[in-house]
Amino acid sequence: MPDLYLGGAWRNASGGARRAIRCPADGTLVAEVDEATGADTELAIAAAYAAFHESDWPRTSARDRGELLMGVADLLERDAADIARMESLDTGKRLVESEYDVADVVSVFRHYGRVAGEDAGRVVDTGRPDVVSRVVHEPVGVCGLITPWNYPLLQVSWKVAPCLAAGNTFVLKPSELTPHSSIHLMRVLEEAGLPAGVGNLVLGAGAAAGAALATDPRVDLISFTGGLETGRRLMRDAAGTVKRVALELGGKNPNIVFADADVDVALDFALTAVFLHSGQVCSAGARLLIQDQVHDEFVDRLVDRAERIRLGGPFDDKAETGPLTSAVHRDKVEAYVARGIAEGAVLRCGGRRPDSPDLADGYYYLPTILDGCRSDMSVTQDESFGPVLTVETFVDEDDAVRIANDSIYGLAGAVWTDDAGKGQRVAARLRMGTVWINDYHPYVPQAEWGGYKQSGIGRELGAAGLDEYRETKHVWHNIRPVEQRWFEG
Ligand code: NAD
Repeated sequence: MPDLYLGGAWRNASGGARRAIRCPADGTLVAEVDEATGADTELAIAAAYAAFHESDWPRTSARDRGELLMGVADLLERDAADIARMESLDTGKRLVESEYDVADVVSVFRHYGRVAGEDAGRVVDTGRPDVVSRVVHEPVGVCGLITPWNYPLLQVSWKVAPCLAAGNTFVLKPSELTPHSSIHLMRVLEEAGLPAGVGNLVLGAGAAAGAALATDPRVDLISFTGGLETGRRLMRDAAGTVKRVALELGGKNPNIVFADADVDVALDFALTAVFLHSGQVCSAGARLLIQDQVHDEFVDRLVDRAERIRLGGPFDDKAETGPLTSAVHRDKVEAYVARGIAEGAVLRCGGRRPDSPDLADGYYYLPTILDGCRSDMSVTQDESFGPVLTVETFVDEDDAVRIANDSIYGLAGAVWTDDAGKGQRVAARLRMGTVWINDYHPYVPQAEWGGYKQSGIGRELGAAGLDEYRETKHVWHNIRPVEQRWFEG
């Protein structure tokens, strides 16, 4: 079956290449999929450009587009079990996590389906009864959407749903490691009645299949989720044609625990904050800041529980978390931990691959805790994107805020305290796009997501997530024009 969706038709890659997708849990072959070339991306851009400039799609009513998205949500819900299975095979994550992810995807499509037609712009009071002045929203144009492997369809939905709600056309380039749920989404969009050329899919490595999305003058916007270095590169590439750039990049997120917090709850959440999906979460609470007087007991108990986390494949009912996404990624995590130890961090648990022969074919790495860290170490500054927690201590509120903000990143963070005033004060001082007080990880499609500082530019979800995909136009209509006679001659 061809896997590329170009101009409303399913096609094989023009170069004939196929990529083997392997399950990270045991290395088994999931399937082979088409590996696009630059020529395929060129076709995809041309199709999206034609659909935007030559079809009526951008001028369909927002309400109709909203209804289409509602239909997409229903179809995704119908296929939820199959999609969850695909996600688990591609990522190695537990099936139950994929099921949550797919439910979130459905709610993202429903959210943008609901809000698509809500805001038709506004009328401006010019003080002139002979003038109608309106500010209206229009689609930006052709959008290049590039996404990572950790939450494959979820990251895609945060882009595709608002992109279509606003009336744009798009070329989607998901991660080369996790293509299956995106292929399925395109089938669902086709079934829901998306006109040919409005949505296009290319698969494959970033440089070959994705790079043109940043440089091509026919693309008006590039929305990227992924690593900092790739984001920097795409921003430079996009500068040549001054296209809109939206970036959701990495994070090194502080989880701040004050001594007055409910320690049992904070400890339980500290584990989920960092070890969920083996730390392959952009907002993972990978940097524990703990108040000095409770440090020893807290970390001892944390180590005890981290050592008991059960690793396993997606369909192992006893597993609590899964593998890393690839051998290359595990190598990077290993090098990161070695660097931390060389800089003086104290390895309290993990720091190696598991011994179990059952896990030998997967890319597993044990939950790891590095104590005695300081903010001048690379392990507290760099994102590991693996199951590694660094522990730093602080003495008071000012100290906690100073350490937490000492980062190039600003994606998310949490503060744990029984003092509501302190929680709010610290939240206000943290330079991050999301702050949780006495919680970790929840998000809703109605609220914006994104980073301060080098964690990104722009926002996904919420009202701002739709605005990313809209131009604003002022239409001034002089109903009764009369001569001005500025120039008398
Ligand atoms: P990555 O940057 O390696 O790849 C992301 C995507 O970019 C992939 O589809 C890849 O093929 C593509 N790409 C790579 N080079 C390209 C190029 N030159 N031109 C066009 N496309 C190119 O990131 P990854 O390893 O897939 O994902 C992990 C990173 O994503 C982490 O840093 C994580 O923090 C970040 N992330 C951020 C968020 C967020 O919401 N801020 C969410 C999820 C993941």
